[in-house]
This record gives sequence, C-alpha cells and structure tokens, in this order.
Amino acid sequence: MVKKKVWVSWLIAIIIIIAVTASLLIGTHYVSKVEWDWWSSSSSSGGGTTSSSSSTSSGGTTSSTSSSSSSSSSSSSSSSSSSGGSSSTSSSSSSGGYINPYEYVWLENIVYDSDDVGTGYDGGRPGKDISKISNNEWRMTIDPEPQGTYHSAWIDFTLRNMGSGETTVSIYGTNSVPEFSRLDDGNSEKHMRYTCDGETYHPITDHTIDIANNRFVIRQDFPCDEVEISTYFPYPYGKIQEHIHSKWNDPNAKITTIAESYQNRDIDMIEMTNFEIQDVNKKQVIIEVRQHPGEVMPSFVTEGLIDFILEEGGQYLDEYHWYIVPAMNPDGIYIGYTRSQSQGINMNEAWNNQNCMEVNQIRNEFVRIDNEQQVDLFIDFHGLAGGARGSGVYATGTGAALFSQILRDNSWFNYESISSSQSATQYARGWSYVELEVRPAILLELGQRRSEWTVRQMQLTGRQLAESIIEFYD
Ligand SMILES: [Zn+2]
Repeated sequence: MVKKKVWVSWLIAIIIIIAVTASLLIGTHYVSKVEWDWWSSSSSSGGGTTSSSSSTSSGGTTSSTSSSSSSSSSSSSSSSSSSGGSSSTSSSSSSGGYINPYEYVWLENIVYDSDDVGTGYDGGRPGKDISKISNNEWRMTIDPEPQGTYHSAWIDFTLRNMGSGETTVSIYGTNSVPEFSRLDDGNSEKHMRYTCDGETYHPITDHTIDIANNRFVIRQDFPCDEVEISTYFPYPYGKIQEHIHSKWNDPNAKITTIAESYQNRDIDMIEMTNFEIQDVNKKQVIIEVRQHPGEVMPSFVTEGLIDFILEEGGQYLDEYHWYIVPAMNPDGIYIGYTRSQSQGINMNEAWNNQNCMEVNQIRNEFVRIDNEQQVDLFIDFHGLAGGARGSGVYATGTGAALFSQILRDNSWFNYESISSSQSATQYARGWSYVELEVRPAILLELGQRRSEWTVRQMQLTGRQLAESIIEFYD
C-alpha cells in the first residue's frame, strides 16, 4: 500500500511538471496573444500607425449627458465614511480572499456633502476610508477584485469645492495593481483622466507610484471647482441602459431582457432591423460588449453605432438584423471591476462551462437566435482601458482578413496586430465559431494612442464600424 502511494504521488508530480511546462510553452503565449487583452503584457507599443484622425469634429453637438455621476444630488446623507482619522487603514481587508460585492453597493445614491468626495455611484470603483486632509489633499483606499486574480484599477470619483492650486490625491492599496505601475512606467500616453464637463477627458500628467507606502499619488491643478477623476473614461451601466431604452419607441428597434445578473440587474439586448421585412435574406449580426467591465471605450463606440444605424436606416435595417448586448456584465460595470463579474469570474473564460450564470443565460439566447437563422457575424467587443497597449482584430473564419483590412482604415482602431487565429471555446469568439459556426467570429480590441479624445469622436468610430461591416458584405 505504502509503496503504491509513493508511486502514485511521483506520477502526479511528473504530470504536473509536464503540464506546467507545456502551458508555459504553449498556453500562456497563446492565451496572451489571443484573448488576453488589456492586461496581458505586450505593452510594446511599437510602431503605432497613428492615422491622425480628423481633428475637425471636435465641436461636439452632443448634449453632453454630464456623465450621470455627480447628478444624483438629493438626500444629503452626510458622509458616514469620513472617519476623520488619517490613518491609512489599508491593510484591513487585503487578505486576498473573497470580497462581498455588496460591500460597495451601499454607496449608491449617497451624496457626500460639498466638502467631501463622492464615490461609489454606478460605474465607479469607490475608494474606501476616504479622508480629506485639506482642500488640496485627499486619501482613499481601494481593494482588489474578488478572488485576488484581478486587481482593480478602476476608480471613479468626484471632487468638489477644492481649493485653488495643486491637489494631491493618494490612493492606497495600489501596490500590487499592475495597471497603476503601468500608468507610471514613463509612457506619456497612459494617464488617469479628469473631466470638468463630462465630455472632454484630460490626462492627469503628474502621477507616481509610491511602492514603499503602497499608494498611487495624483497631483494636478484642476481648472474647475468640481472635477471627476477616473482611471479612464467612465461609461456606467445606467448610461448604457438609458441609451438603449431611449430607442424604445423606434419601430426598427426592440429591447428585451435576455438575462439577469447575479445582483439582479438586467442584461438587455437591443435588436435593430426593419421588422416589416422577413429575415431570410438579412445578415444576422451579434455584437456583445463589456464582458470586461473596465473596458469602456467600446461602450462609446457602440452608442455611436446604434445611433447611426437607426438614423441611417435603409440598407442598414433592410438587409441586416443586429443583435447588440451592450452591457454583458452589468454588475462588474456597476461595481467598478476591471475584468470580472460580481463573483470574480472572468466571463470571457466561461463560454465552455457552466461557471458563470450570466454567460449561461446569454449563451442560451445566442443559440436561440442562431437556431432561428444562422448568425453571420459575431463580434466580441473589447477595448483598452489604460491607453496605449496592444490592440487588434482577432478573427476566426473566412473573410476575417478582409474584414480586418477594412477596419484598419478606421482612425480609432489603431491596429498593431491583425491575426486570423483559432480561439478556444472558453472564449466567446471561439465558442461562437465552433458552436454556432459563425464565419467570421471576431474579437475587436479597440485601442487608443492619443492623450485626449472626445465622446463625439468615439461615437463617430461607431459609425465607421457600422460602415465597415456593410462594406465587408457589399
Ligand atoms: Zn477584454
């Protein structure tokens, strides 16, 4: 018996060694190249064919929805948080274990008094232990995402009634967050952002990671009295919902709830087509967005794409049936996670299993759509949150190369890489290719290299994407 046990444990050890070696040789390379956007290394940022997009359109007609965040000015339940104590109690909950997502929800609709900092509304990862040292100095702490695999880099807060001159914000708990060290890696294209009007987002130019004190420090002389600061350009769940539901009365749009999230938020789908015409000869296009909640850029683009298609009509509606799920991961978006849903699951690794309740339901819906009529194009839409980073079109299936080529001309899809690789079925792209037999199935990784952009420019990119798809099939 004993001998057998020893033999078995040796065998297990050998298997593990082989497996680890194999995954190092194949797996990580493959994964990081294929579906590990944003956070995977490859920050090479090499020759970015920056295609100087028209700076013409800056005069945004858009009525700047003022980023919905700070607007919830009611019930001035004055800050329960400001414990006054300066002490950087950051260590309290950093056990790396599971963090109850509801811990953050209580902050909903809380409006801090004018001397405090408002955090935690929809779409922003709230700081904790917020304290105001002076008008020009603030401190807060952030926690990692559940399960310790992903470290949240996503924060979003509003400072009000600041003093004039330079303001310093120290964010504790950032020591092990790769994104923060990247923000401070000397790459001038990568910055946190601030906005005074919810429309134009400026880079915060002075930030440093202070490893010794486990904090990230921002310093900026803000040109306005109320400023919203975030890791990147915020696009909260409420705004997504508001946008698609504004199409409710459009005869060419249909909105349905296809799933419920773990925290009971609706996962809605907007369909766009000319419902008067039968689907038989229409292209069936699925676009799903924000599996990774911190990847906000695709939301701006999706908004532009939806608006454009419904306004343009004609061929866009007569010959196409669009199925768009703009908020795949509403809890993650709401809470302000970067990569996971509320239970710490990376949705884009759960398409070939039953681990993620959101994916389980959405997958059923996609199968139902495909059963009605073969899906022609599947786009899993991602985007970089932190600025300059490898971006690309990752396509599987016939026509992929051509589609990629067309997209290359679009100013905001500054592709470094276009690849026609296979994809494992754990990813949405691979799953749709294998299980739904969609040709092509595409992962779009939107990247941006400029230090500033406007909401209007992103919306125009949505239009370009719609045009590219039509061009592809023409
Ligand atoms: Zn992603």
